[in-house]
Amino acid sequence: MKHKLSKAASQLREQIDDSFPDRDRTSDGWIGDTRHAARKSDHNPDEQGWVRAIDIDRDLFKGSKPDIMGDLADQLRTLSKSKKDNRIAYIIFDGHICSKILNWKWRKYKGANKHVKHLHCSFKKEADNDGAFFQISMLGGE
Ligand SMILES: [Zn+2]
Repeated sequence: MKHKLSKAASQLREQIDDSFPDRDRTSDGWIGDTRHAARKSDHNPDEQGWVRAIDIDRDLFKGSKPDIMGDLADQLRTLSKSKKDNRIAYIIFDGHICSKILNWKWRKYKGANKHVKHLHCSFKKEADNDGAFFQISMLGGE
């Protein structure tokens, strides 16, 4: 089976690459490794081969400051909360998670991996073929 990344996910990653071309990609990822495969994860392909999650390394400037992934996480959160863009299912970063539960308010993430080195973003099934531009100011949007 051919694995394919959600078009919304690849669009977001492309915009991040365009805005931060020198970023560190060490903690990047999309398809589940054997560790992911053992449990339920959006990094694991579904029956049709769709993968609906990406990890983006925290370091957007490769070793140099500033550390602004938290700001980017918050812009993604705000966009989702505004309902102008409904493609993101949830975001995990730096020990916190947000989703439509609690209306996109950050809450403590209790999973084993606190996601300190990377931001995790999961996308909805409905967004599989939706590669529209993300309107986020840090990523060239409005
Ligand atoms: Zn992840």
